[in-house]
Amino acid sequence: MANAASSGSELLSFATELYPICRSITGNGVRRTLQLIGRHIDLKLHEVPSGTRVFDWEVPLEWNIDGASLIAPDGRKVIDFADHNLHILNYSEPAHMSIGLEDLRPKLYSLPNHPDWIPYRTSYYRRQWGFCLKDRELAALQPGRYQVRIDSSLAAGSLTYAECFLPGRLKQEVMFFTHVCHPSLANDNTSGMALARALAEWIAGQSRRYSYRFVFAPGTIGSLCWLSRNEQRLERVQHGLVLGLLGDSAPLTYKFSRRGDCDIDRIVPYVIRSIDGRSRTIAFEPYGYDERQLCSPGFNLPVGRLTRSVNDGYAQYHSSADDLNLISSEQLQSSLEACQCIVEVLESNRRYINMAPKGEPRLGKRGLYGAVGGRSPAERERAMLWLLNQSDGTASLLDIAERSGISYAHTRAAAEELAAVGLLEPHAEPTQAQARLAPSKSARPVSTPKRGRSQSAATRSRGKAKHIKRKGASR
Ligand code: ZN
Repeated sequence: MANAASSGSELLSFATELYPICRSITGNGVRRTLQLIGRHIDLKLHEVPSGTRVFDWEVPLEWNIDGASLIAPDGRKVIDFADHNLHILNYSEPAHMSIGLEDLRPKLYSLPNHPDWIPYRTSYYRRQWGFCLKDRELAALQPGRYQVRIDSSLAAGSLTYAECFLPGRLKQEVMFFTHVCHPSLANDNTSGMALARALAEWIAGQSRRYSYRFVFAPGTIGSLCWLSRNEQRLERVQHGLVLGLLGDSAPLTYKFSRRGDCDIDRIVPYVIRSIDGRSRTIAFEPYGYDERQLCSPGFNLPVGRLTRSVNDGYAQYHSSADDLNLISSEQLQSSLEACQCIVEVLESNRRYINMAPKGEPRLGKRGLYGAVGGRSPAERERAMLWLLNQSDGTASLLDIAERSGISYAHTRAAAEELAAVGLLEPHAEPTQAQARLAPSKSARPVSTPKRGRSQSAATRSRGKAKHIKRKGASR
């Protein structure tokens, strides 16, 4: 449906560029990451000072690290942070000491079931230090005294997040959210960062009905910071998606919003079904990524999540085996194409009114018979008949495509043809959100919208298609 703004190999090479950076929920790793993303899209960085209260949380001290190592009794360096970012318990406080093996053991983390992988562990809110290592290396440690050196800092600073805002004709926004706090883990989440960057680049080159906002923020505390700073503007968010874990071989997966009946909850399953025969949907649960905050009851935003593997749903999750071998240019490319299709449906999904509803209008006299654009005449006519039949102002293009089984692209093309000869007119009823934003305009009854400035027909179709069976939905 869409031309990719960025090829899969470009996405993979950007993920590769981001992979070695030691990120955390604060610090220079996040800033460096955002700087790299900001070379491609227009990013505005926000700094939230340490100690800032955000709802029930507080922005912690800023963490940075220069190096860390563990020296064995025989002088051998058994752990060197320079070899892998995951070797350090993320957010470790500084430590320089000599310690016996038995006292050291509680500070060492490994994965006994995967003895050659290094686990990813964090301690953001409890001050401590630790190392992560292969279980095979742990088992080989000799008794004696070890030298611990952790050259980190925990100091008053700030938490950094960034936004890319792409204004459209409407104030209503589509939001994409991705977490930027994980160190060297490829699927989770250099894939999401690379994808969000490419999607923003692509949307920046498109004519837009909606405005688009991309938020690149550390998980949990970063999304809480964003929410606390944007609480008065949240009603503009009409649709949203959390993007993450989009480069591995698992099928495209949609996690429903907490509401479960938003437009995004119908559009994404429809799109991924049409792209990936293995696609699946999963119910909302209050576990996962930033949908935990965005869909908390105090906000309850119309935000779902697009992933492939789910968090904690693959063996390599949160370990050194989530490396660049786990993600591929093909999967990244197909994830990007899915997002582009989602945007195209969001932009174009509207309701129409049949202007000649008494009986079937004669298509022949309006030159609407015959093959166009690779479609068979029968399919084109069938799409037109469905549109004319269903366009009483209640059914969106997506409703009609799902009910008829005709592809969305063909349904949309036929609607444009019918609109061009005056048989269909876009339905013009303000959205609730628009009514809130512009009460003087919404007080007027329907009709005569300025072209392209009408409204989110998609929003209004919410809940109007209960008769359409949602394949694979398990909410
Ligand atoms: Zn994670």
